[in-house]
Amino acid sequence: MMNNEGRPTRPAAANDASSAPDTFSGARALEQHEPLIFERSNPGTVGVDLPDAPDAPSRLGTLARKGALGLPELSEPQVVRHYTRLSRMNYGIDTGLFPLGSCTMKHNPRLNERMARLPGFADLHPMQPVSTVQGALEVMQQVKHWLSVLTGMPAVALPPGAGAHGELCGMMAIKSAIEARGEGDRRRRVLAPASAHGTNPATAAMLGFTVDEIPENERGRVDLKAFEEKLGPDVAGIMLTNPNTCGVFETDIKAIADAIHAAGGYFYCDGANFNAIVGRVRPGDLGVDAMHINLHKTFSTPHGGGGPGSGPVVFSEALAPFAPLPWVTGDGDSGYDLKEEASGDAAESFGRMKGFHGQMGMFVRALAYMMSHGSDGLMQASGDAVLSANYLKARLEDVMSAPYGDGPCMHEALFDDTFLNGTGVTTLDFAKAMIDEGYHPMTMYFPLVVHGAMLIEPTESESKEALDRFADTLRFLAEQAKAGDTERFIQAPRYAPRRRLDETQAARKPILRWKPEAATAEAAE
Ligand SMILES: *Cc1c(COP(=O)(O)O)cnc(C)c1O
Repeated sequence: MMNNEGRPTRPAAANDASSAPDTFSGARALEQHEPLIFERSNPGTVGVDLPDAPDAPSRLGTLARKGALGLPELSEPQVVRHYTRLSRMNYGIDTGLFPLGSCTMKHNPRLNERMARLPGFADLHPMQPVSTVQGALEVMQQVKHWLSVLTGMPAVALPPGAGAHGELCGMMAIKSAIEARGEGDRRRRVLAPASAHGTNPATAAMLGFTVDEIPENERGRVDLKAFEEKLGPDVAGIMLTNPNTCGVFETDIKAIADAIHAAGGYFYCDGANFNAIVGRVRPGDLGVDAMHINLHKTFSTPHGGGGPGSGPVVFSEALAPFAPLPWVTGDGDSGYDLKEEASGDAAESFGRMKGFHGQMGMFVRALAYMMSHGSDGLMQASGDAVLSANYLKARLEDVMSAPYGDGPCMHEALFDDTFLNGTGVTTLDFAKAMIDEGYHPMTMYFPLVVHGAMLIEPTESESKEALDRFADTLRFLAEQAKAGDTERFIQAPRYAPRRRLDETQAARKPILRWKPEAATAEAAE
């Protein structure tokens, strides 16, 4: 069953059929079957030996707990084994290649972790007097300097806590600038390409703008004519990702910037893919007014699982006055300070968007990453990221199908499911078969403009050997699908601790709390 984006909403029939033989224990080779820790609980078992609590009168009154605490009861070795076994089911960038596109899952040098853990950074409190955190403020000032030089943009806001938060920051500045011009009631429409990351239209909508979708042309880029026809006096701006989510550079970007400015709107660039152009293209030169940078994609910090993130925003001269508070002022000679009030040169700031100053640990990692690479190293990283993606594209395009295959790609290679036509294998099945082969799947069914999309971003940190092995595996799978070995795909994953899950149910009706058996059976219905 498919929803209207072509994404299957139910696992394939394969589910119940098991082609790998069952084992008596539920384990698969040395991979142990592991139930929930609550199911392992054995009442009365303890991992610690504490003296009895002194007999003191309770002061909890009506707040005192009436029932049992309900925590699992286990010994220390049982707990250690439980979590170690779970950790072995995990797959991460330290286990192997992580081909997710639009995410930039790359190796992050351990040096940066080491720096972020220095007690002088890790043990700071955000409310310490500024005289005691001069080094931290200097790091923030340095990060701003590097980001400003790399993007060719004069102002940098460090507070946003993620890419999407950075979008909100940039769009709030745009909204403030429009209101300052007295056009707040009139400019209510934001343009965004159909291939945009979902956070773009969501951000615009959250600020009360209507979102108007621009179609792609047959080269996976903004259709310039369709874009120009959408311009008008009610347009607040455009949100455009470059390089875009089809993995290609928006070659008309200067014409787009000029046209949006001529129409009185602002150019928000989604800079999540900045890692493909660092040191080679300065967004400021392209006419960008605001752009977020995902430090966790481009400048170190491992991510995934929802955090941590950091999404500083760079601003043009026009938007700089509206940037959020607080910001760092001063230099090594005068000492550093924090501008925290919307007064003086911050009178037009739209205010605070985060409790404190941003993600300090990520600023340290980003600065360590940038300084250890140097400007030549950063250029090489973006060049190698693009080279790796093009190498994979070249090694795969004769057996898979690339919808915008003419010409090179940027940092990610996009395939569609045309090569699976008539095989009975879907993008989802193909991805599940990759799990059996030891690979985390690539990004699937995104961008939505491509049917059955498979978006692969190898990054600069994979060796040629790793890329070759990955390409050989995908070639093998593509050939097996075409040769009619459908079982391999619809049965997959056969070797994972869990087979196919009903992902839609899991997302819509997650069971987040363990309850004793009778209650769980009800919740699952
Ligand atoms: C990752 C990404 C975002 C959102 O960034 P988060 O840090 O996950 O909020 C936005 N746009 C694009 C193109 C992205 O790849």
